[in-house]
Amino acid sequence: WEKGLMHEGIYVLPYCYRCETTMANYELEYGEETDPSIFVKFRLHDRDNEFLIIWTTTPWTLVANMGVMAHPTFAYVKVRVDNEIWYLAKERLDHLMNLLGKSATVLEEIPGRKINEWEYEHPFQDRIKKKAARKVVLSDEYVMLEEGSGFVHTAPGHGIEDFIIGRRYEIEAFCPVDSTGNYTGEAGEMFAGKNVREANPMIIELLRENGSLVYEERLKHRYPHCWRCKTPLIFITTKQWFISVSKIKERMMAEIDKTEWHPDFARERFKEFVSNAPDWCISRQRYWGIPLPIWRCGKKECGKIKVIGSKDEIPKVKELHRPYIDEVELGCECGGSMKRIPDVLDVWFDSGNAIWASLDNGERKRYGEVADLIIEGQDQIRGWFYSLLGSGLVRNDGTPYRRLLMHGFFVDEHGEKMSKSLGNFVPLEDIIEKYGADTFRMWGLSSTIWDELKFSWDDMKKCSSDLNIALNLTVFLERFYPKKRIGEAELDEADKWVISRLNNTIKEYRQAFENTEPNKGIKAMRTFITEDFSRFYMKIAKDRIAKGNNPEGALYTIYTVLLKSLVMLAPVSPFISEYLYLRFFSAHEKEESLSLVGMVRGEEGRINNVAEKQMDVIKEITSSALLARQSAAIKTRWPIRTLYIESKSHEIMDAVRAFGKILNMMVNAKDVAVVEEMPGGKFSSCDFSNGKVHIDMKIDEELYEEGMMSEVKRRVQNLRKTENLLEKDAISIYIDAEKEIEAIVRKNEDALMKGVNAKKIEFKGVENMKEDEIDGREVKLAIKRVK
Ligand SMILES: [Zn+2]
Ligand SMILES: [Zn+2]
Repeated sequence: WEKGLMHEGIYVLPYCYRCETTMANYELEYGEETDPSIFVKFRLHDRDNEFLIIWTTTPWTLVANMGVMAHPTFAYVKVRVDNEIWYLAKERLDHLMNLLGKSATVLEEIPGRKINEWEYEHPFQDRIKKKAARKVVLSDEYVMLEEGSGFVHTAPGHGIEDFIIGRRYEIEAFCPVDSTGNYTGEAGEMFAGKNVREANPMIIELLRENGSLVYEERLKHRYPHCWRCKTPLIFITTKQWFISVSKIKERMMAEIDKTEWHPDFARERFKEFVSNAPDWCISRQRYWGIPLPIWRCGKKECGKIKVIGSKDEIPKVKELHRPYIDEVELGCECGGSMKRIPDVLDVWFDSGNAIWASLDNGERKRYGEVADLIIEGQDQIRGWFYSLLGSGLVRNDGTPYRRLLMHGFFVDEHGEKMSKSLGNFVPLEDIIEKYGADTFRMWGLSSTIWDELKFSWDDMKKCSSDLNIALNLTVFLERFYPKKRIGEAELDEADKWVISRLNNTIKEYRQAFENTEPNKGIKAMRTFITEDFSRFYMKIAKDRIAKGNNPEGALYTIYTVLLKSLVMLAPVSPFISEYLYLRFFSAHEKEESLSLVGMVRGEEGRINNVAEKQMDVIKEITSSALLARQSAAIKTRWPIRTLYIESKSHEIMDAVRAFGKILNMMVNAKDVAVVEEMPGGKFSSCDFSNGKVHIDMKIDEELYEEGMMSEVKRRVQNLRKTENLLEKDAISIYIDAEKEIEAIVRKNEDALMKGVNAKKIEFKGVENMKEDEIDGREVKLAIKRVK
């Protein structure tokens, strides 16, 4: 008010004449309504027998017709029908002629822009008082070709779109309707005192009598109703309070460019909306809400306005809301008394002040009145993004946010909007019931924020299994981690590698969040946990722990990597990450909750990009070698003598030098050799990007024994599982097998007993033996628990 940015004016709003109240857009209840649908002729000025054809479903608004809209780029035609000349959109001609059962001769095609400013006569000027120069105006936003004639009857007092166009062309918002839904005297004697919707038949009759009616039918269409009493609503002009957006629009447009927008196309959409935005109507006629702090002098000849900025400017009042606030009267300079106007503020105005309204004075000083980041859906282009910008400019002459992130909507897997009637609606409760809130969050955050969020049970399942991996890793630690925390440990190459990968992932994750693209960070985190950590590193670590080959280093590494992974997981799946932290880590850590641990930072000193590249090479060679094994039908459990890598690349040699042991373990080879030329022998081969891998197919006695023993061992372990025996439960083993197998097992008895916690092995048949075969040889096995 003090800056001159507020004014009182008129505005068209949906209105229930039965309840005598205006409605906000979100209160409209759309339902089917049967209304007249009529085509009407408007006689053109200074042209002989020539007419514009318009269409309307609200004949009663013709009383307040003040113009006709045409689209500047649509094609219109001048046609001869009987002895008259009509104008309408080319695309609507066939439709109307079909209705009339008539034919038309097209005389000329005219672009809409050439019809601009043609003047016409009101179809029943003799019955209405209102005189005006009625003419055609242009609108590229409100003229459609799906229905009607391509010319839109415009009554700025009875339609929001009409009102907006009316303001653009300075057409009066004539509204001869009172608060009870009856025409006023301004409408003319014939109509005065009649209910507008009930006047429809009378108006159609009038048009028929004076020859203006082209066609009449009934139409079922969606129409807004009062949510309280179901009366069809009408649009009328009302007195309202506005923020004069027109005075600050240039500043608004400039401010939009200073803000960081994600995605950038949101900025363009927003600019388009703001550039067309009319003055902002901030008053509402209702009881609940923030009272508009405007007092007006009751003396008619004075009418002075006072706008209150704080409760200190008014006498003490019990409560700042209605009805108490309305008891406050202020003295006017003229000696009269000022009363508050009865309106309250639009809730969008409240939301526009959210940033500073949520802080007290001290906090405002400390944090300022500009938010770092706001996040909302695409529907807020015309909502919150806008109300914040407007309020920010009025209050602080600037945008109250530095960065803005706009997200898409939840849709079905084909990108269609979900709706119960279409049958593609997936209730959130069903998803949560099946997978839990954390899985749903991870799924939602894993896709590009501003795209539509396409629902998919498969993707949900994938998220769920990724979260399960975190659980399994925690369970693994519970089982193998010592009681006392491992402070430091000597690390193997693989440990250093996975820690390097972790730190690179943390860097990528943080960077993605900084760039407001959390989906990229979450993808990096998920790939790291599932592929690098769980699928690859854990294989190496488990092997080492089982063989007692620097298990400390492996356990230290698993602990560190998993804990930091959980911290990254916390903002995405807060419940599961916290649960896992409490379940295992909190006993070793000083913080009582994962939320207190603080976001992790990538440590440059632990990153080794060369080693990571080399490990990529090792991974590739591994998968080629496993394919070569597969095509030769040699199971991974059976060791091979030598894995040959035929390559001339130094990169390959370096990688194998650094990580050869890991390659041995992954491929189950005794030896790895990088060669430029292959020796003679029988091999199974497979290509990789830098050469070829060859599996030595010759199995010597030693390899055969080792393979056989690992098959036997696995079968014993499976039996332990089926009998639900714990690791600490000692067993006896009974074997009934071919001589050759028996001989091999006898030779390796001690190692087998140690490996499966057995006290003895007997070579005889007992009851309930499990029959099996290994490499085509029959073998029967049984175990018993020994006390
Ligand atoms: Zn009502
Ligand atoms: Zn006064």
